[in-house]
Amino acid sequence: EVKTQGRQGYCFYAPEMSQRSAASQRIENVLRHALAHNELALQYQPMVDAQHRHIVGAEALLRLYVDGKEVFTPDQFIPVAEDTGLIVSIGTWALREACRQARTWQREGHPISISVNVSPLQFQYAGFCERLDTILNETGLDPGLLELELTERTMMSGGDGTIRLLRRIRQRGVRLSLDDFGTGYNSLSYLKHFPVDALKIDRAFVRDITHDAETAAITSAIIAMARSLNKDVIAEGVETEMQSAFLREAGCSHMQGFLFGAPMAAEKFEERLGANRG
Ligand code: C2E
Ligand code: MG
Ligand code: MG
Ligand code: MG
Repeated sequence: EVKTQGRQGYCFYAPEMSQRSAASQRIENVLRHALAHNELALQYQPMVDAQHRHIVGAEALLRLYVDGKEVFTPDQFIPVAEDTGLIVSIGTWALREACRQARTWQREGHPISISVNVSPLQFQYAGFCERLDTILNETGLDPGLLELELTERTMMSGGDGTIRLLRRIRQRGVRLSLDDFGTGYNSLSYLKHFPVDALKIDRAFVRDITHDAETAAITSAIIAMARSLNKDVIAEGVETEMQSAFLREAGCSHMQGFLFGAPMAAEKFEERLGANRG
């Protein structure tokens, strides 16, 4: 049988569903509750330009609160949201909220870009582009300030229509970046086939560049290649000055990481913006 949400809120599970762990079912319940009661939130992590370290953008990252506390991390609840299909509503909420916030900052004199993560199911979902248009219209955000972060997994999920869909999104002026670059199986072929504006070098590379010669060589090569393809390169998870110096010299254009700021609430981020340009 299909899973049915009972009118009283209880669920009937098919036998294979009962194999989902209790933890995952608990997260599903928390997610449903959070969606209905406005308990999801976004935090914003600064993205800086490698040369001057000015904040040029923010990545919006989902947070889930239970009684005011963060009980589950995105790495725990995003997979459950994907398995249950809830990611479509949650992702739409996140996209709208991020665009609304970026529009506010733009009005206040800070026209920074906003990056939003998009899950495979959300991307595949018929009408993704229409939904995107609706959100851009409703919020009034300049599409050029929006960047969608897609992973290889997202690209793979789109099937034959992927390239067409990516082109449609870019026609609006929205930018696309390949997230977690280098961790998948086909990174290089993705770079060749899919029209993206930027790639984000995964934290796993950045972590090792200062003490592992091979990682350093691979990372430099990725940056050089991306630049020759005219793509921006954003390094993720930059935590030390040594990493930052290496990446800057290798030609990385933008950076993100605890060295420049962890994800933070919108109000905190605004304070940083105030200090940014005075
Ligand atoms: P991601 O998109 O690759 O985001 C980067 C993650 O690295 C974030 O974890 C961020 O807090 C963390 N991070 C940033 N700088 C550093 C650093 O210097 N050191 C370390 N150790 N970590 C750093 P977070 O917020 O826990 O998110 C994890 C993943 O969950 C994201 O990876 C993304 O794949 C997913 N996610 C988060 N928000 C959303 C969303 O709104 N929609 C979708 N579909 N996925 C999301
Ligand atoms: Mg991301
Ligand atoms: Mg990433
Ligand atoms: Mg990631």
